[in-house]
Amino acid sequence: MSMRSWVDYLYLTVGGTLSNGGVGGMVFQHGPMVSSVLELDVITGKGEMVTCSPELHSDLFNGVLGGLGQLGIITRARISLRPTPAKVRWLRLFYTDFDSLTSDQEFLISLRDTVGFDYVEGQVLLNHQQVDDPNFFSIEEAERINQLTAEFNAMYLLEVAVFFDSTSLVDQKVEGLLQRLSFVPGFAFSKDVSHLEFLNRVYTEEEHRKSSMAVDPSKIRHPWLNLFVPKSRIRDFQTGAEGILQNINPTGVVLLYPMNRNRWNENMTVVVPDEDVFYSVEFLWTSTEQDWKNLEAGNNEILGFCHRQGVQAKQYLAHYKSRTDWMEHFGEVKWKRFMQLKQTYDPKALLSPEQHIFTN
Ligand SMILES: Cc1cc2nc3c(=O)[nH]c(=O)nc-3n(C[C@H](O)[C@H](O)[C@H](O)COP(=O)(O)OP(=O)(O)OC[C@H]3O[C@@H](n4cnc5c(N)ncnc54)[C@H](O)[C@@H]3O)c2cc1C
Repeated sequence: MSMRSWVDYLYLTVGGTLSNGGVGGMVFQHGPMVSSVLELDVITGKGEMVTCSPELHSDLFNGVLGGLGQLGIITRARISLRPTPAKVRWLRLFYTDFDSLTSDQEFLISLRDTVGFDYVEGQVLLNHQQVDDPNFFSIEEAERINQLTAEFNAMYLLEVAVFFDSTSLVDQKVEGLLQRLSFVPGFAFSKDVSHLEFLNRVYTEEEHRKSSMAVDPSKIRHPWLNLFVPKSRIRDFQTGAEGILQNINPTGVVLLYPMNRNRWNENMTVVVPDEDVFYSVEFLWTSTEQDWKNLEAGNNEILGFCHRQGVQAKQYLAHYKSRTDWMEHFGEVKWKRFMQLKQTYDPKALLSPEQHIFTN
């Protein structure tokens, strides 16, 4: 059996991921990891062990999911599972046009689960970034893609997957779906892998990246910025961010893919934009000790751009330092509820003080 919605990287704790949300390419269909939770055991800040669920102590249950470790420590989670598929057909399709990428992504996440892909993500390949993933592309394929990248200023990648047990059915399904997409003709690549190989793909890529770096991996910094951006402003956001990043020339991965808001539970603490469809935009920078400050400055410029232009983005894995910023992040209703829950379950503010939400 397997979870319905997986994060991209597996080497995280269950409790830590549930205290944020747990996002990845299956969220559009099954919601974030928190949406599949049936029951939790939580040790609250008062030292009480409470079993909670949507029916039992539901305020604590909803509060802890996405609750940034503020209300209690999760010691057990019962999560809804489904049968593990035998195989995964994993595809990567290339685009030279941002609007074609996003309209295809939005079309794909609007499909019912039986007819569409099981996983939808995407990437922005910055500054003629070369494709270098021998676990997915052959040498000839990588050369062909890199030639295309050299010709165009911008390149985008749509990453999708179908989970399957029977090869004949998957061929038909994928063929039908590809006909409806507008990637660059001839630039669709696919591979059949085991379910585990697919779920572990980021770790495998990361190991390859580390082995080909000239720098000692322990000296590498990760000044990441994760944002949820409303669909109505994704084009403006992309233009603004691209302009800012041109001057910085960063290295790393930029993920960009849409999600359906109706797969998120409004009662949980996790915060998302107020629009039916929003994008997860993840700037996963890799930097040396010397240049991480430049990247942090770039991240702040992107946040400043959103603020000035009224792009109502919400940070995922936010690192605010002031209570005012946290209040703005949560919005009036959620902030009030979160404060009340904190008073009830951790009145001495003992838990996760490093978040600077109730302790500064
Ligand atoms: C390499 C990497 C890849 C990632 N990929 C993804 C991804 O694909 N999708 C995604 O959604 N997120 C991703 N994240 C973010 C990840 O979900 C958070 O960083 C999460 O907090 C990790 O939990 P941890 O316990 O492993 O980390 P820790 O650093 O040990 O914990 C971080 C915080 O989580 C809270 N916490 C931890 N354990 C518990 C618990 N048992 N109960 C309550 N609160 C707890 C606490 O506030 C703690 O301070 C990634 C992070 C990294 C470093």
